[in-house]
Amino acid sequence: MEVNGLTPVPDSYDYDLIVIGGGSGGLAAAKEAAKYEKKVMVLDFVTPTPQGSSWGLGGTCVNVGCIPKKLMHQAALLGQALQDSRKFGWQFTEEVKHNWMTMAESVQNYIGSLNWGYRVALRDKKVTYENAYGEFVGPHTVKATNKKGVEKLYTAERFIIATGERPRYLGIPGDKEYCISSDDLFSLPYCPGRTLVVGASYVALECAGFLAGLGLDVTVMVRSILLRGFDQDMANRIGEYMTEHGVKFIRQFVPIKVERVEEGTPGVLKVTAKSTTGDQIIEGTYNTVLLAIGRDPCTRRIGLGKVGVNINEKTGKIPVNDEEQTNVPYIYAIGDILQGKLELTPVAIQAGRLLVRRLYAGATTKCDYVNVPTTVFTPLEYGACGYSEETAVEKFGEENIEVYHSHFWPLEWTVPSRDNNKCYAKIICNIQDNERVIGFHVLGPNAGEITQGFAAAIKCGLTKEQLDSTVGIHPVCAEVFTTLSVTKRSGESIAVSGC
Ligand SMILES: Cc1cc2nc3c(=O)[nH]c(=O)nc-3n(C[C@H](O)[C@H](O)[C@H](O)COP(=O)(O)OP(=O)(O)OC[C@H]3O[C@@H](n4cnc5c(N)ncnc54)[C@H](O)[C@@H]3O)c2cc1C
Repeated sequence: MEVNGLTPVPDSYDYDLIVIGGGSGGLAAAKEAAKYEKKVMVLDFVTPTPQGSSWGLGGTCVNVGCIPKKLMHQAALLGQALQDSRKFGWQFTEEVKHNWMTMAESVQNYIGSLNWGYRVALRDKKVTYENAYGEFVGPHTVKATNKKGVEKLYTAERFIIATGERPRYLGIPGDKEYCISSDDLFSLPYCPGRTLVVGASYVALECAGFLAGLGLDVTVMVRSILLRGFDQDMANRIGEYMTEHGVKFIRQFVPIKVERVEEGTPGVLKVTAKSTTGDQIIEGTYNTVLLAIGRDPCTRRIGLGKVGVNINEKTGKIPVNDEEQTNVPYIYAIGDILQGKLELTPVAIQAGRLLVRRLYAGATTKCDYVNVPTTVFTPLEYGACGYSEETAVEKFGEENIEVYHSHFWPLEWTVPSRDNNKCYAKIICNIQDNERVIGFHVLGPNAGEITQGFAAAIKCGLTKEQLDSTVGIHPVCAEVFTTLSVTKRSGESIAVSGC
C-alpha cells in the first residue's frame, strides 16, 4: 500500500514482533511474547572487536559482562581465601600459582553452555532466531544481513530495539590496533601480564581488581574521579582499598599514544600519557592496555533515520516514554540504549517482560527504574540502592537528611587479621519523611547478597525505626545495619571495637 506517495507500508506483516538484539532485554522480551502465541523473530549479530573477538547468542551480560567478570572476580577471591586459609590451619607446601588459560577456558566453557541454552530456549518457544545484523530500511521493515553478507527483508507489526552498547575507544594513535577492551579480556588466549587499565568506570575498577587479585601488576589511569555517578565517599574507599592491595593509580592523566615495542602474546606496549591539569607527559610500558572508558549505544547504524526514530545526537541514546515507546509508536526500545535509565541486566529484562505483557496480555504495570539495587564487584564489593549522598543532599538539602554509618569487621577476616576498619555500612534517611531510608550503601564481602534483601525492604518503604527494630543475624556482616547509631553529622568514631 502506498501512502501519499511515501515509502509503502506493508499490508500484512511477516511477524507480530521483531526484536533487534538478542541480549538480556531482547531475549527476555522475545520469549515473553512467544508465551502469548505471538509470531516473534530475534535478530542478533555480534560485530567483532578491532582485535577480532566475537561470541555467541545472549548479549553483553552472558558473554562479555556480568557472567565472566563475576567468575574472574571469584577466581581472585579464591586467591585471597587461599592466603587466609593458612591461618585457619590449612597447610600446603607447593608454590601457589594461577593459570590464566585454565580460568579463561573454564569460564568460556560455561558461557558456551549458556549460549547453547539460549538457542534451545528460543527454539522450544518457537521464536525464530537469525544470526544477522538488523537495520530498518522502511516503515515496519528491517533488513537482516548475515555473516556471509546475505540480505533478507522482514516486516513486523511492532519492533523492540535492544541493541545494547559497545566499548568506546580513545581515538588516539594505536588504540584500536594495540589495546583491548572488556570485550576481548574474558576470552584472551594468554595471560595479559603487566596491565594498564584506562578509565575509572565500574568495568575499569572491576577488571583492575580481579587482575591484581590474580597476581598481575596492574595500574589504573584515571582522568578525573572514580566511579562517576556513584556515591563518591564509597568510590574513594574502594580506591583506597585497591591501592592498599597493590593496584597502582595514575591520577589525572590520559593516554595520547600507544605504540608496540615488542611483538608477542602478550607483547610490550609503550603508552604515552598527558596530564589533564598541565603539560606533563609520562611514558610507561605494559604488556596489555585495557580500555574501559565507557560504552556507546549501538544506535547509529541501524537505520533509525529511515523510520524517524529520534536519538540523542550527542550520546546516541534513545529517549522513550514511561512505556518504553519511542517517538515512532510501533517501535519500542529497552536496555542499555535508553536515555536516562540504568544500564543493568535485570533492568533490561524487567523492562522487556513488562513491555511485552502490556503489549499482548493487557497488563498495565510499568517498569520501575527507581531504587534499583546494584553491586560493583571490586575486590571489596560495593552494594548500593537508592540515592548517593551527593544526590540526596542535592535533592532534599543537607539539613533534611541523616546519614548513619559504621565500619564493620567480618568475623572471617579477624583470624587472618585482615583489613580491619575497611568494610563500611551507610544509610541515608529522609528526616522529613519519618527517616525513610532513601540510600543504602555497603562495602564488604558479598555486598550484592546483602543489598538484594535490603532493596526489597526499601521498596516497601523501610524506615530507620523499622531497621532498628529488625533483629540481626549474628555473626554476619549485614547485622551492622540493624544497629547503626552514629550519624555522620556527629563526627563520632565509627571504628570497630569487637563483637
Ligand atoms: C564488563 C561488564 C560487566 C557488567 N557487569 C554487570 C553486572 O554485574 N550486573 C549487571 O546487571 N549488568 C552488568 N553489565 C551490564 C549488562 O551487561 C547490560 O546492562 C546488559 O547486557 C544490557 O542488555 P541489553 O539487552 O540492553 O543489551 P546487550 O546485552 O548488550 O545485547 C545487545 C545485543 O544486540 C546485538 N546487536 C547490536 N546491534 C545489533 C543489530 N543491529 N542487529 C542485531 N543484533 C545487534 C549485540 O551484539 C548484543 O548481542 C556489565 C557490562 C559490562 C560491559
